[in-house]
Amino acid sequence: MRIDILTLFPEMFEPLKESILGRALEKDLFQLNLINIRDFSLDKHKKVDDYIFGGGDGMLMTPQPLYDAIMSVKTEDSYTIYMSPKGTVLTQKKVCNLATNYNHLIIVCGHYEGIDQRIIDLCIDEQVSIGDYVLTGGELPAMVLVDSVARFIPEVLGSDTSAEDESFSDGLLEYPQYTRPREFMGLSVPEVLLNGNHKEIEKWKLEQKRIETEKFRPDLLDK
Ligand code: SAM
Repeated sequence: MRIDILTLFPEMFEPLKESILGRALEKDLFQLNLINIRDFSLDKHKKVDDYIFGGGDGMLMTPQPLYDAIMSVKTEDSYTIYMSPKGTVLTQKKVCNLATNYNHLIIVCGHYEGIDQRIIDLCIDEQVSIGDYVLTGGELPAMVLVDSVARFIPEVLGSDTSAEDESFSDGLLEYPQYTRPREFMGLSVPEVLLNGNHKEIEKWKLEQKRIETEKFRPDLLDK
């Protein structure tokens, strides 16, 4: 999997180079390429934004630098996503589909009031939102997308962990989990988890998944 991120602020992506994703990048389990849209501006002052036709507050990202930046990385296999509050909201199912069905993602980060509609019409396969709220730029949403997709790339999580065994994978939230010590501040680990009976443990986990989902996200049960 190769992911090209088009942004005006490549330095914002430093956190992706830490921890699990940082190790995966070092091992070349996937490639992350940061492209500065400003480098493609043909304006003599490297301008990338302009006033909005018809009025309205703020500035819009101009089409030329974005178009040239996208075309510099686009191939027949690319799937081009614009991070946008108008997009379909990201879910674990969508993340899994993106990770499974594409080898090359291009992620476009907007800024200011967003990007010229003609770039969406000409170049974008899908608009993706990370939730019903508005952020100042697409960089944080792009990081959310990369992190969630990378977890489905083989070996990124290590051999003994799977992204398919977590909240949302089967439509339910995860069961409560405990580690050592067996007792903490007067609270004990449920006895069933300590007795080594795998059948009983699996039954308990499924029950707890239903209870957690009912309590925190009853809307998931309706689906
Ligand atoms: N004027 C736009 C609107 O009302 O729909 C909002 C633009 S927002 C201030 C600037 C950029 O942040 C957008 O172009 C987009 O890339 C990104 N952005 C903001 N909120 C987002 C969200 N919930 N999901 C994904 N991207 C978002």
